Parts: sequence; structure tokens; C-alpha cells
Amino acid sequence: MRSLYLLPAIVLLALACFGQTAAPPEVNLDTTGKTVDPCVDFYQYACGHWLKTTEIPADQTSWSSFVEIRERNSGIMREILEKAAAPNAGRDAIDQKVGDYYGSCVDETTVDARGVGPLQPELKRIANAKDKAALIEAVARVQMLGPNPLFNFYSSPDLHSANDVIAYIDQGGLSLPDRDYYLKDDAKMTAARASLVEYATQMFTLIGQSPKQAGDSAQSVLRIETALAKAAMDRTARRDPKTRDHKMTRDEAVALAPNFYLNRYFAAMGTPQFSTLNVSNPDFFKQVNGALESESLDALRTYVSWHLIDGSAPWLSKPFVDANFKMQQALTGQSEIKPRWKRCVSSTDNALGEALGQRYVEQAFGADGKQRMLKMVDALEKSLDQDIRSLPWMTEETKKQAKVKLDAIRNKIGYPDVWRDYSSLEIVRGDLLGNFLRANEFEAKRQIAKIGKPVDRNEWQMTPPTVNAYYSPPRNEIVFPAGILQPPFFDKQADDAMNFGGIGIVIGHELTHGFDDQGRKFDPQGNLRDWWTAQDGTEFEKRASCIADEYSNFVAVDDLKLNGKLTLGENTADNGGARIALMALEQMMADGPAGPAAQTIDGFTPQQRFFLGFGRGWCEKRRPEFSRMLVSVDPHSPGKYRVDGVVQNMPEFQKAFNCKAGQPMVRENACRVW
Ligand SMILES: [Zn+2]
Repeated sequence: MRSLYLLPAIVLLALACFGQTAAPPEVNLDTTGKTVDPCVDFYQYACGHWLKTTEIPADQTSWSSFVEIRERNSGIMREILEKAAAPNAGRDAIDQKVGDYYGSCVDETTVDARGVGPLQPELKRIANAKDKAALIEAVARVQMLGPNPLFNFYSSPDLHSANDVIAYIDQGGLSLPDRDYYLKDDAKMTAARASLVEYATQMFTLIGQSPKQAGDSAQSVLRIETALAKAAMDRTARRDPKTRDHKMTRDEAVALAPNFYLNRYFAAMGTPQFSTLNVSNPDFFKQVNGALESESLDALRTYVSWHLIDGSAPWLSKPFVDANFKMQQALTGQSEIKPRWKRCVSSTDNALGEALGQRYVEQAFGADGKQRMLKMVDALEKSLDQDIRSLPWMTEETKKQAKVKLDAIRNKIGYPDVWRDYSSLEIVRGDLLGNFLRANEFEAKRQIAKIGKPVDRNEWQMTPPTVNAYYSPPRNEIVFPAGILQPPFFDKQADDAMNFGGIGIVIGHELTHGFDDQGRKFDPQGNLRDWWTAQDGTEFEKRASCIADEYSNFVAVDDLKLNGKLTLGENTADNGGARIALMALEQMMADGPAGPAAQTIDGFTPQQRFFLGFGRGWCEKRRPEFSRMLVSVDPHSPGKYRVDGVVQNMPEFQKAFNCKAGQPMVRENACRVW
């Protein structure tokens, strides 16, 4: 399933981000509806009124002030794109590319008239594969076009030599969001599989198969994907980068799973010469090797076609779009499809993000934004330094190493210094599917061309309009796209207490990722190397498991609890981020002349405003189906626990609101890592 709310698998491996449903605080200190004691349920205290008065729009899977910003950004991009799409002789190269991409996308009449026609040559190519060795070349072709049948192939820094980009092959090839969807037998997962079979049957019928044939094809898809799911490592185990550290020679990889015909595959992908690669999950390739033996050529061709059809469906004619949405609906509960213009804005951002992004920052990113952010990043880094120094459980030796790592963290703010060059990507007005596939091919080639080269430090892994932020362990950098640097999150007019409770916590969160259960395993240069004394490592694990246990007891939806181990890194970052952002605010108030930040406003002290800003930022509603899906796939906790889970652990919070021992927001055995 290619969805808009999940990061591509490739990006997920390298990044720890702020969250796909992250939310900024509202500046407004509205006190209506506060019937709950902040020490009993702080989330309810901060969000009660919002929760009572807010409905999830029909075209959304969740709603929060964060999604509100995303929607507002969509509106800004829409204006840019409609202007660029209008026939105008004076358009520059950027407007031509983004305008024609968007213009082709919103032209539903042309798209509907062409039906499945534009996909036929590619489907024929798969059907013509005359044996399994030839089929791997069809797999390569489909992967060049975007979808990823069978496995994932990409480039990324070498885990042990972070300056050098190498090739990776990894588990993959599923249409449902996670292996659990294939392997668990509860009613919800069983229903999701039934929806997949129904969806696939409908799609195969649409491309011309008889109902009987289409039903058989759908069963083949489910059977093959179930075999892939069985061979896949679960998400929680994969959090440990050591489980994905299997560098070997190309010959060894080929011999590991001969039925993948990897030499033919790499040739078809047009890779540069290389002699070693990382096979992230060797057992997956070994096990699937057997499945490739036992499945018929015909079933495998059906499976590969399926990924191409499913991945292209949103950009084909209406019957395909509708069937694809119905599947998404089954997984997320979204009641209406997004208006076409919104889908087309997202697609243009995916395809040409650093072209559209140039126009976006011209319009939406103030020149002084970067300077103010740099000052805040500096303040947060000083707080984390001070925090590490004060830790009673860490020895001087490890503290010294931690300081080296902290000092080495680079930051990127707003937009890239060097913009991506799309001049070789052909965008043709009136050819939506072609544009979509060519944009994917452009990106695949860009990824492949990096193999064997030094890491490009200028590269960004999110586009400028994105309302999110990330930390990259192999690059040891924190990145804040322009999309998140705007009111009410980051607001020139707001007082510092609100800004530190907003973007300050985001900065602290990203910095802490360098020292969470994953980040701590990488050294200042981004290599997977243990720089901890054994004793300090044990002390860290003890404190981290306190957080894992805490969050494992939170109920996400119905009786479904959070996976405390899957969400450990994000929860650690939320806890550490809140602490060091508050430290930075208090330091600033102590240093500077008593500005408005130090005053009581509307009856709230600066510390109370800080926590209110934090709490308000996470006010969130999710559809139950979507909530259930995120428990399986999302390393972030739901908004309620991103707030209550943190403040329960903070004496600073309890002091700010005069909470007493025994109250729910005062955890008896408070967890603290950073
Ligand atoms: Zn994060």
C-alpha cells in the first residue's frame, strides 16, 4: 500500500522523526472547559475543550493542530501550483515541471479517458518474462518505477564507514502495512486480509481477467505475501541496528539466495560496479529463496503485476482510484477520499519536492527564521550538555564521549543549500501516470548512482514543506524543514515560554534521538560503534526498560496496548526533549533581563505555559481503525501518552502545578534516561 501518511521504508531505516502526526501548540491560553485537575490527567486538562468541540473531517484519518498546519501548507502549495499550471509563455523551468505535473494530475477527464492504457506496456513486459531468471528483470523494472515487489533495494551509508554509500538489499514486498497483518489470526487482521483479497480481485478484473481468474490471482498474491511476511523480521527486533548489520561480498549474497538471480537483477538496475553490500536480513532471502522455488512462474508474474497495479492505482482512472481508496478505508477508517487537488499537491511534493519547495520557501519561510532557530538549537544543545554532565548514573568516561557526539551533531534548518536538479526528468502535460512513473524512476536512479560514492552532506530526506523533523544516526544530524517552522509552532510574536514548549521541545526531541536506544549505538561520525563502558550501557538499558514498561501499559484503542519496545526511542526522545527544553527556557530567563517570558500571563507562570504549550500541541483525535494500524507500525505513541507519559515522569511538572504524591500525574517510580 502506498500511503500518504507513512514514510517510505527506505527513509524509515535511516531516520528517527518527530512523528507523522506531530502537533504544534496553540498560542491561545484558553481556559474554558478546564474541569479536570491537571495533576489527575494533564492531557484532558490541556485538550478537554478541544476534544469536546473537534470532529475529524471526513477526508482525514486523524485530526490535530499539526494536521491543521499540513492542510494550510497544502493550500499554499495549491496556489503556487495552480499559478504554475496556467498556460503562460513566460514560465521558468521549475514552474514548467511542477505546473505540468500538477496540471496533468488534476485533469481527471484525460486520466479517465485513458483508463488502464498507460500501464499496459509495463504489464505486458511482466507477462512476457519467459522464466524465473527473466522475471527478476521484470522485478527490477517495476522497482525502478516505484513499487517494491519481493524485496527492497537502496543505497545508504555503510554502517561501519559512514562516509561511504553502499548498496543494501532488505526484506519487503508486502501490500498490507506490516507482517502482523498476514500472521495474526484475530478478527481485525483476518478482516484486513479479506479486504486485500477483495481489492486485488477487483483490480485484476479491471485489467481484464475473468472473475474466476481474478479471484485465483488475488489468492496467489495473498499466498506469496504471507510467505514473505513469515520470513520478515518484526519491527521491534529491527530497531536494533545490529540485527541489520550483515555486510558481505556480492558473490556471497548471490550464493545465499540463488533463485533471486541477483547478478541479473543488479545488471537490470544499472548499478555501478560494487563488490560488497549489506544484506539487512539474510534469513529473509534464504527463506524466500525456497518460496521462489515452489511458486509457479505464473503465480510470480501475477504477484509482480499486482505491485505495479496497486502502486499505480491512485493515478489511473476512477474505478482504480475508488477500489484503492476502499482498501485504505478498510485499514484507516477514513470516510471520504481527499479532494483530488489535495492528492495532487501531495503527489507533486513527492515527485518534485525540491522544485516545489523552492517556490514554497520563497513564499512561506521568513529570512530571519533561520537565525532564530540557530539560537534555539544552540540553547538546547547547551542544556543537553548540562543535563548529561549532571547524570548520576553515567561515568566520566562515557560522559566525555557523549559530549564529543553532541558537539558533532550538525543541523539543517528550513531548506537545502543545494537544490536537487530535476532537468533530466521529463514531465509531459496530459500524461499523469507517465509523469508519476518517470519521477519514481528518476529517484531510483538517483539512489543507485550514490553507490560507491562519499555521502552527500547537502542532501535532505524530507522536502521543505513537510511538517515534521528528523534525526539521522548515520549522518548525526538534526533537520527541521521550513514546513514545521511556522506559527503557532514557531512564532515570532509568541512569548518564549510558548516557543520553548513548541519548537524547543521538537529540537530537544531530535537531539535526544542521538542518544536513544538506537542512536546511542552510533558514534559521532555515524558509525555503528559502541562508545559506552559496559557498566554505563547496563545502566542505560535499565532506565530505558523503565520507559518501555511505562508505555506498554497505555491503552491505544479498545483493549489494544502500546508496544513499549517499538515506541521506546520516540518516548525517550519525548521525555528527554521536554526536560532539556524546559532547562533551556529557565536558563534563558535566568540569564536575560526579565522579559515577558518571565511574567505570569493570564494567570499562568512561564513553566505552566510551557507545559500547556506542550500539551496543546498534542491534542489529537484518531479514527479507531487508524489508531489500531499505528500501534502495529508507528514508533510514536498517540498524543495523549506523548503528554501524560512525559509529565508523569517530571518533578518539574509536578512543581509547576503543585501536584501531590499519589496523584495520577505523579508516577511513583518516575522513569528518567536523560
Ligand atoms: Zn522522533
